[in-house]
Amino acid sequence: MARHTITLIPGDGVGPEVSAAARRVIDATGADIEWEVHDAGLDVMERYGEPMPAHVLDSIRRNKVAIKGPLTTPVGKGIRSVNVALRRELDLFALVRPCKWYPGVRSRYENVDLVIVRENTEDLYAGIEFAEAEPQTLELIEAIERLGGRRIRDDSGISIKPISIYGTQRVYRFAFQWARDNGRHKVTAVHKANIMKHTDGLWLRVAEEVSKEFPDIEFEDRIVDNMAMQLVQKPELYEVMVMPNLYGDILSDLCAGLVGGLGLAPGANTGDEIAVFEATHGSAPKYAGQNKANPMAMMLSGVLMLRHIGEREAGDRLEAAIAAVIAEGHSVTYDMKQQRDDPSAVGTSQVADAVVAALERAPVPS
Ligand code: NAD
Repeated sequence: MARHTITLIPGDGVGPEVSAAARRVIDATGADIEWEVHDAGLDVMERYGEPMPAHVLDSIRRNKVAIKGPLTTPVGKGIRSVNVALRRELDLFALVRPCKWYPGVRSRYENVDLVIVRENTEDLYAGIEFAEAEPQTLELIEAIERLGGRRIRDDSGISIKPISIYGTQRVYRFAFQWARDNGRHKVTAVHKANIMKHTDGLWLRVAEEVSKEFPDIEFEDRIVDNMAMQLVQKPELYEVMVMPNLYGDILSDLCAGLVGGLGLAPGANTGDEIAVFEATHGSAPKYAGQNKANPMAMMLSGVLMLRHIGEREAGDRLEAAIAAVIAEGHSVTYDMKQQRDDPSAVGTSQVADAVVAALERAPVPS
């Protein structure tokens, strides 16, 4: 029997290609993994009647660890994101997104090594929405006015932003502990407490309270708009930044941009018992099936996964092999070249070949 059983959801769009590449290099580390492969997303709707069928969730609950490719959410068609639903269903409340610069990556910045911890279950992503002109929406508008709020225009759509003490406490405890376990010294709370006093204000207050439980970690806060500017001007000042769901979504892409783009940004959705690893990028449909997408974000998600399951040495070796391929600069995809149409760019599977070769060159500690 393999030492670890892990659920693998290939995803759609470029998902199957980057997932196959990541699986190859993870296996090449020698970590003893049995994969339970399950499809999910819009492609399985017809077969199972839902995008995230119960047997897939059961597999993740059983194995406690999964790695997934991106899943497409059609914009504005009333279909909710399967990715968001998965995080909520499994209560994966903290999304850890490291943004690290590797020598050889073309970027305006060097030596960036930030981590975003994004609260994953609350805020405007709670999925509590009311469409314009629906009877419930008009009733809600009446109730808000009656309860002392201001009159909202009758033709408004409404999205609700809940932020709880419980949800905030657990994500900060997780972030401070993560900082401590990973040799980081500072946590920055990101918020807009000056405007949203009862949601972001609560978020900041609870952050300050939790910070007292971790006196060895420095604590500070930044208003989100200022944070965006500071990240562009002096990213080296920050270590672990904790954000409510929406700001975390937006600033994750900004930070990915600081270190070479979405092709290099991994992530770990983490709960009390279960973790689901995935790249920050989406399904990039225009490159689907073309062997073009950069698999490194998915591979780096694999690095996080290996460390999470206790295969720290395999994770470190895989990260070093990816870094070696980047530093060497030949076997990289189009997005890592100066010109996007550079004919020397290689495809997704060739990156996997190069990482496997780099792993084979690296000595395995006895
Ligand atoms: P995207 O991340 O798919 O693409 C944004 C840009 O980055 C595009 O130009 C794309 O070609 C490029 N890109 C993305 N990944 C790349 C890679 N690995 N290598 C090279 N280039 C890459 O974002 P989008 O276009 O906003 O979303 C497309 C779909 O993905 C949507 O349906 C969205 O809902 C979904 N999505 C899913 C997830 C997830 O599964 N967690 C996350 C984000 C978006």
